Amino acid sequence: MPSEAVYMDHAATTGVHPEVLEAMLPYLGPQYGNPSSAHQLGQAARRAVSDARERVAQVLRCSPSEITFTSCGTESINLGIKGIMKAAGGTGHIITTAIEHHAVLHTVEQLEREGHEVSVLPVSPEGIVDPEQVSAAIRPDTRLISVMYANNEIGTLQPVQTIAQIARDRDVAFHSDCVQAAGALSIDVQDLGVTSLALSGHKFYAPKGVGIMYLREGTMIETQQQGGGQEHGNRAGTENVPYIVGIAVALERAHVRRDAYNAHCAALRDLLLDGLLRAVPHSRVNGHQTKRLPNNAHLSFRGVEAQAILMGLDLKSIYASSGSACVSASLEPSHVLTAIGVPRDYIYGSVRLSVGEATTREHVARVLNYLPPLVRRLQALSPVAAAS
Ligand code: PLP
Repeated sequence: MPSEAVYMDHAATTGVHPEVLEAMLPYLGPQYGNPSSAHQLGQAARRAVSDARERVAQVLRCSPSEITFTSCGTESINLGIKGIMKAAGGTGHIITTAIEHHAVLHTVEQLEREGHEVSVLPVSPEGIVDPEQVSAAIRPDTRLISVMYANNEIGTLQPVQTIAQIARDRDVAFHSDCVQAAGALSIDVQDLGVTSLALSGHKFYAPKGVGIMYLREGTMIETQQQGGGQEHGNRAGTENVPYIVGIAVALERAHVRRDAYNAHCAALRDLLLDGLLRAVPHSRVNGHQTKRLPNNAHLSFRGVEAQAILMGLDLKSIYASSGSACVSASLEPSHVLTAIGVPRDYIYGSVRLSVGEATTREHVARVLNYLPPLVRRLQALSPVAAAS
């Protein structure tokens, strides 16, 4: 990344932190043993994986045997959801929400094609699911409820503890996609009350390509790939030792720094939101005003296309995103923004700015300097914005 660039896309991914990389390097170099080998090199790798598992378990406040390392958040979600749904044999019912990541929505769609039944619950205009609706949707054959902790587009937080309690009272398993939450929120499984959850390393300064699945002791799952007996039989395949070491260090770092990180991000996020709302006519913030991730600013600007905004920012080496695959009126709008009812004349002009550890006030000032005139210029050319 050019040194003058402003990176405002931490919700998409983060760079590997130097402390994380340093911990990984020996296992990308001389310590290349296979944890299944009985000799000393293999046993050193085995110890590294088991040490990483213990460190993750301490942060999540669970037993190391409840931690499974995977290749990404998507795999952890697939394994948790399909694994639980299929373990009992036959077919069953699953409840989820309209604003889940596609890793969840496409997984439940696949289960539906295989004969399971799915209830997709709506959310409020702020993007929050009503726990009473979750409770009302439970049927005798409901096997699983899957509700994300924090939304990847609008940053809204869901009442997962309340939903987990409802699930427990009704003897239903509860899964949560916590991929965006790690870093900003405590992922204490005792407090959350989940049966299973998913994390992804690249959202909290570990590399892309490593994830974690927590699965409560005694929960049966059907494994999704066959092979060796690694990861307590939950996930066959030789362990990715350096990445597993990296994700453990990154999770510990995030855990220790959480309060400072949140204060840092929230201050910058508020500066961004205040500045942009004040300087751009016909702008709105999406998601809940307070129940949101501290680093997420998601805005819509009337009558413009996000693609034009993002390209204009990119030309100034300011990297942001829309938060979804669709940024153009020629494509379907984001399912999240559709579910929360963002008006048609705003929905295509939606941009996500997500700050991180290395974001500074000067970065925010650069965005505030450049983005409002850019949007105003685009709005001046837009028949929709001009009509108001
Ligand atoms: N769930 C959420 C909420 C996400 O934001 C993402 C990634 O953007 C994923 C799941 C998928 O994680 P991964 O990229 O590790 O597969």
